[in-house]
Amino acid sequence: MNCVLCQNPIRDYDPAFNRLQIDESRAVDICQECVDRFLKWQQGKYARLFPTNAAKRRFRKS
Ligand SMILES: [Zn+2]
Repeated sequence: MNCVLCQNPIRDYDPAFNRLQIDESRAVDICQECVDRFLKWQQGKYARLFPTNAAKRRFRKS
């Protein structure tokens, strides 16, 4: 079972954590490392879309 994103074998594969159902007939398997990368990427996008007060303060200081 290889990750669709990085092509590395998925360690300790668990469908609950590693299987992303796209629609009824399609699903992809993603390793935990790529899930973490994906989350960081998403958080970065949300931070840009909805900057928190803390981020705004940091931005003003620098
Ligand atoms: Zn991966």
